[in-house]
Amino acid sequence: MLKVGHVVVRPGRKVGMDPVEIPIPEELETVPGIPMVSKDIDFYSREYPLLRQQVEHAADTEWAPSVGTPAMQAYHHQHQAVMEEFYPSMNRTGDLKPTGTPSGQDVTQLIRDKAMEMGFLDVGFTDHDMRFVYQDRKGHVKYSNAICLALEQDFAETQTAPSMAAEHGHYGTYEVQAPMGLRMVDYILSLGYGAQLHGPSNHSAATIPMFVAAGMGQLGANGQLLTPHAGARCRLQIITTDAPVTFDKPIDYGFHAFCQVCQVCVNRCPGRALMREKIWWRGVEKNKLIYKRCRPVMSRYEGCAICMKVCPINKYGAKAVMEHYVETGQVLGKGTHDLEGYTLHDESTGKYATGYFGPGELPTFDADFFKIPTGTREAAALDELVEHIKNNNDGLDQGDDDKALFDFRERLRFIIHGEVSDSTMF
Ligand code: SF4
Ligand code: SF4
Repeated sequence: MLKVGHVVVRPGRKVGMDPVEIPIPEELETVPGIPMVSKDIDFYSREYPLLRQQVEHAADTEWAPSVGTPAMQAYHHQHQAVMEEFYPSMNRTGDLKPTGTPSGQDVTQLIRDKAMEMGFLDVGFTDHDMRFVYQDRKGHVKYSNAICLALEQDFAETQTAPSMAAEHGHYGTYEVQAPMGLRMVDYILSLGYGAQLHGPSNHSAATIPMFVAAGMGQLGANGQLLTPHAGARCRLQIITTDAPVTFDKPIDYGFHAFCQVCQVCVNRCPGRALMREKIWWRGVEKNKLIYKRCRPVMSRYEGCAICMKVCPINKYGAKAVMEHYVETGQVLGKGTHDLEGYTLHDESTGKYATGYFGPGELPTFDADFFKIPTGTREAAALDELVEHIKNNNDGLDQGDDDKALFDFRERLRFIIHGEVSDSTMF
């Protein structure tokens, strides 16, 4: 039996449910939230502002659907059509005027109760930290208080990941969450205050730091927010507001240290995209996901999400996981087929690994598998031109060279005059 350092008490996962008490072993205690060096975060946000995925990784975002299975491609188009209905209203919420009269009273509890009544898994309040706002959204964000809203993704569907059912769970949650967020905006407007919706998909900032600051979880080795009730199996959304609210505080759930003991997602990732050790990245100590090893896998294998599915906190909840650790010093479910097993279904080329992989078994891929377009769309266009020149270095075919240059110019023109998508899929 390990010594308990402190006990975290969180509200139940639904209205009317008892609060849960989570014992945190002393040996897993680190800091509330995440270790960070504030002046380093200041420096990186100023000199190297964060870019939206649709900007920084635009080349592979455009490429990804082309390698999905026909079923994935069809579903993504269907989902995109649903979301296109919401994006314009979501993007305009910052212009809406309050419809009620402000009481001047703190409205934290009213908003918390409303969110839980609507079916959100959890809600928290914090300062909307502008250091995490994306470069091209800095002028977009209107208010300085952040309401962090987490909506649970279906458990049973997620347990089948990677699969089309898990993709339906993932994107289906967005489709429910977008109108829920709009209804929350209406509610806050009715209280007499401004409210601006960010996400799902069309986020204005990196959301996880705000959720951590609001005490709603800690960052996991899988690069996702680990919430106490559902691990990373949550979809996140922020409403910025000028309503008077009381900020929550970050919490030490023990996850920061637990991940170093657990390592299940690191061991099970088919792309070897997750790092065993923590590093300091942009002023934060974390296990940094290697994007270029994840993207080729998730694009081909139905969104992958194995790192979400195999996480014991997703599967059993933090209370059960921490109680088991206190009693045994072991990670609940680690090494079992039930937690760690997964099946890779056929991918679109029919060329890469399929079948069931139990604990200790991983698929392998050739080097070509990981060669994907990288960087911004401009960078990808330039890469193509450079490749053409490398392959035709004698310059004998002037017509071919001229065509390559012409195509490059037209592509740049299209990029410069085009819009950045609200979706991270296309
Ligand atoms: S989505 Fe799949 S490939 Fe990407 S990090 Fe998670 S387990 Fe690895
Ligand atoms: S699987 Fe284990 S190591 Fe990975 S995020 Fe979950 S708790 Fe952390």
